[in-house]
Amino acid sequence: MASLDISSVLQGGYQHPLSRSWQAKRTLTKEMFMYPIFVTDDPNARVEIDSLPGQCRWGVDRLEEFIGPLVLKGLKSVILFGVPLKCTKDAKGSPADDPNGPVILAIKKLQSLYPSLYIACDVCLCEYTLNGHCGITLKDGTIDSLPSAARIAEVALAYAKAGAHCVAPSDMMDGRIKTIKRALIDNGLGNKVTLMSYSAKFASALYGPFRDAAGSAPSFGDRKCYQLPPAGKGLARRAIQRDVVEGADIIMVKPALPYLDVIQDAVELAQDHPIACYQVSGEFAMIHAGAKAGVYDLRTMAFEASESFVRAGCTLILSYFTPDFLDWLDE
Ligand SMILES: [Zn+2]
Repeated sequence: MASLDISSVLQGGYQHPLSRSWQAKRTLTKEMFMYPIFVTDDPNARVEIDSLPGQCRWGVDRLEEFIGPLVLKGLKSVILFGVPLKCTKDAKGSPADDPNGPVILAIKKLQSLYPSLYIACDVCLCEYTLNGHCGITLKDGTIDSLPSAARIAEVALAYAKAGAHCVAPSDMMDGRIKTIKRALIDNGLGNKVTLMSYSAKFASALYGPFRDAAGSAPSFGDRKCYQLPPAGKGLARRAIQRDVVEGADIIMVKPALPYLDVIQDAVELAQDHPIACYQVSGEFAMIHAGAKAGVYDLRTMAFEASESFVRAGCTLILSYFTPDFLDWLDE
C-alpha cells in the first residue's frame, strides 16, 4: 500500500483544538484592541451613524453611560475623534485645540471617570478647517507643509497637556512627527506621552462611513497629495522609515485588511516598535454587510480579519469591533 512520505504529514500537529491554538505566534487579547469613539459638541448627543452599524456620535455628558459598561468588560484603550458640528471653522483649524471643544473635554472627563483607561487622540485638522483638508493650504489649494506640521503639533500638544496618554496624527503632512516630538519634549511631555504615527495611511475607498460620522469630507479636491496611493508599497516603506527616524513610538498602517503586506513590511522596517493597524470604517461596514447578506458568520469573519492583523505582526488593533471582542474573548 502506498504510504505518505514523513515530510508530507502535517495534520497530526493540529488535530486537537489545543494544538491548533499553539499554531499562533500570538493570540488576540483585550489589550490589543483600541476603540475609536466619536465625540461631538452637543454634550447630550447620542446619534446613531447609519453607515457604521451600532456606532454613535456621543456627547461628553453621555460618555459615562457609553464607556462605563465597556470598562467593566475589560476595555483598555480608546482613541478619540472630535466631531464638531457647531464650531466656526477657519483656515488653520482653530477649533481643534479649543479648551472647550469636545476632544479636550472628553479627555478630562474620561480621565477623571476611569483613571486606568488609556486615552489616545486622533490629531488632524480636517474636521476643523473651512476647506476640510488635513493641513493648511496655499492660495492655489496645495498644502503648505511647514505651517501645517507646526499647527498639527500645536493641536497634539494641547491634547497631551489635557491628559492624553497618546497623540496620533492622521494628517500625513511631511515633517509632522518630528515637529510633534520636539513640541512634546520642549514642554516636558517627551517621556509622558506616546506618539503613534499613522505612517502608512492610504487614499482608500474604505473611509466613507467615517466621513459620514465625522463630517470631514474635503470641500474641494481630494487627499491624494498627502495620503498614499494604494499601489505605493515603496512609498509606504519610506514613510514608515521616516517616521521611525523622526521619533514615532508606534507605527500604524491604515486601512488594515487590504494592506497586510504593508503591515508585514512595517514589522520588518520598525523591528523595535509596536505595530498598529486601523481596521477602518469601511472594513467594519463591509464585514457587517457580508454577514447580513449571508456570505459568512459575523463573528467568525471578525475573528479571521483580526487574527490576520496579529499574524502579520500587529500588537495593537484600532477597531469598531472592540466592544464585541470584549464579549467574545470572555467566552
Ligand atoms: Zn484629516
